Amino acid sequence: MSVADSPSNSIAPTGETKFWIRVALDVPLQALFDYRAGGSVPVGTRVIVPFGRRKLVGIVVALPNVPALDPRQIKDVDQVLDDTPPMPADWLRLASFAARYYQRPLGEVMLPALPPSLRKVTAYQGKRSAGGPVQRMDSRRKKSVAAPAHPDTQPELNPEQAAAAGAIGAVQGHKTTLLYGVTGSGKTEVYLHAAQAALERGQQVLFLVPEINLTPQLEASLRARLTGLAGPDSLAVMHSGLADGERLQAWISIQRGTARILLGTRLAIFAPMPDLGLIIVDEEHDTSYKQQDGLRYSARDLAVWRARDRNIPVVLGSATPSLESWNHADRGHYQRHTLARRARDVELPKVRLVDTRRLAMKEGFSPQLITALGERLERGEQSLIFINRRGYAPVLNCASCGWVSNCPRCTAYTVLHRGGARHNHLQCHHCGYQARVPRACPDCGDQDLKPMGRGTQRVEEHLAELFPSARIARIDADSTRLKGSAAALFAKVHAGEVDLLVGTQMVAKGHDFANLGLVGVLNADAMLFAQDFRAPERLFAQLMQVAGRAGRHVTGGEVIIQTDYPEQAVYQALLEHNYPGFADYGLAERKAVGLPPYAFQALLTAEARELSAALAFLADARTLPAQDPQGFHTASAVTLYDPVPLRVVRVANIERAQLLVESANRPALQAFLAAWSLALGSLARDLRVRYNLEVDPLEI
Ligand code: ADP
Ligand code: ZN
Ligand code: ZN
Repeated sequence: MSVADSPSNSIAPTGETKFWIRVALDVPLQALFDYRAGGSVPVGTRVIVPFGRRKLVGIVVALPNVPALDPRQIKDVDQVLDDTPPMPADWLRLASFAARYYQRPLGEVMLPALPPSLRKVTAYQGKRSAGGPVQRMDSRRKKSVAAPAHPDTQPELNPEQAAAAGAIGAVQGHKTTLLYGVTGSGKTEVYLHAAQAALERGQQVLFLVPEINLTPQLEASLRARLTGLAGPDSLAVMHSGLADGERLQAWISIQRGTARILLGTRLAIFAPMPDLGLIIVDEEHDTSYKQQDGLRYSARDLAVWRARDRNIPVVLGSATPSLESWNHADRGHYQRHTLARRARDVELPKVRLVDTRRLAMKEGFSPQLITALGERLERGEQSLIFINRRGYAPVLNCASCGWVSNCPRCTAYTVLHRGGARHNHLQCHHCGYQARVPRACPDCGDQDLKPMGRGTQRVEEHLAELFPSARIARIDADSTRLKGSAAALFAKVHAGEVDLLVGTQMVAKGHDFANLGLVGVLNADAMLFAQDFRAPERLFAQLMQVAGRAGRHVTGGEVIIQTDYPEQAVYQALLEHNYPGFADYGLAERKAVGLPPYAFQALLTAEARELSAALAFLADARTLPAQDPQGFHTASAVTLYDPVPLRVVRVANIERAQLLVESANRPALQAFLAAWSLALGSLARDLRVRYNLEVDPLEI
């Protein structure tokens, strides 16, 4: 409705109170939008407002005395949504910080953080919207369905655990604790104690984990141990796999304060928690904490910021902390507590490197690994074969002419998959393209097409030939596609109905397998020479994680790593479970060449139909500072590297290139990025290029 249409919108006589509100909307514009409200509306309130021809849900972020536009052009608010309390001030601060730091419009941070029902106009207006989503939820809601918690036994803390828990409990105000504990050292027990103390003080606890579906044990422990204090509904769970209604319910119960503990994945960092008193980030090094599209935030980093802003403690736990966090502890910014021994009376598993260079391998298995598997089977123990590659074989190859199976839409091979509903087929793991397996070579007609390399399916097949009487299970993204199937497979492993388990990194995280004695690692070298400078750090963390599944309850646990490069630092450090040694070495290396954490980075990625357009955009972006020395006054402290194509240049027919920005000075980089991101939008529109700017990228 335009101002002229409506008599009530004529300029008010002087003296009449006007209620201007400034609203953040989920639109890709670096702007806020002013509207006129019929009465006073607190900051943090959600409103429905007209925007162009649409209506949108927005959040009131300020109450200006004078609107930014001519008052006659300002439209009326359509509806004030008061079915939830206004978003609290600390939530608004968190969102504002994230918007500033990650260079996104405020509305593109705030609105996507809300559960879908709270940001959809259709949830409030139109058919079947009567009462709004919150009222409908409340009226539907039955009495608690959560089973009453049956407290499980609470072990007495060992001295290391007690020291860590004591130190966290003694924190007054804000402090970041880095809990470095080897796998099986009982970090969970420390978290539980810290959480319990916070709950007893009447505070809420935010407990972040990388992946919820993979850690049902943790949820069970939290329920059993902590909900006794505040009732079965005091635990809320939040992750991206929830249905809209479930997500809304978790959000509302945590915002109302009826839920006291929030267990969640990265998106839970944006939950409004009025009584938040403690944040725990388990497996803080895990890359799942980094959102990979839209607002590319690090939930771990935001957790530290939020804790500082609220003046409360935060605990970062890991057996292989990120070098960033380790460096903070070295410099005294974080307090470090170490759990050096396993909590139960078992040793860390013995790590053995099998040099595969001169061995007669059988389908990727060394004789040593085969023997060791046989021994564990005889002893009635479980073994895990870890290979981080799903499918049957990474590529199909023609022996006569050298043809390989390529994705027509990507610069990538298609992976051979066996069996299942679609029978054998080729699949692109980048874009999802699928094709039949050709009967003969498309180039030369030869019928002798061979799978090259191996993935989980082929390993599973070979294990079945080697150990015909063993019960074998495979856990990867393919075998767990159906809802509940991952839980069912893990349950089988826990129930002892599996002798040999083949899996990708899905099995590496967090699981406490009672009867697992041996872990065999295939194909670790593939990650060793990846181009990314964080590849060794990631490989070390992954191998420590998966190694940590061995011998948690049985004695004599062992890890066998097959490699062509046993002398590499990563493997040598693994032999001794020497994370601190590896971290010191890695940090020294990073320092010598000025890489993070000794420098700060941002990555501008461009996408276009043609690589040349993407590269041209980046080249232009690189010259922007020279055109505006005033706007880019910190540019001299910032290095802009040459634009380069991505390693996998084309995905789904889109070609990609990137430009790395780096500075030893974070504020200088931030100032640069703020000016840069303002200018990039119009440049991209002119050149018809899509782009994204990522701050603190994890992969370059
Ligand atoms: P982490 O998370 O550090 O890898 P967990 O928290 O899973 O280790 O603990 C490993 C195992 O040790 C679990 O089975 C846990 O119940 C047990 N545990 C933890 N603390 C103690 C303790 N103080 N005494 C005995 N067992 C413990
Ligand atoms: Zn051929
Ligand atoms: Zn593809």
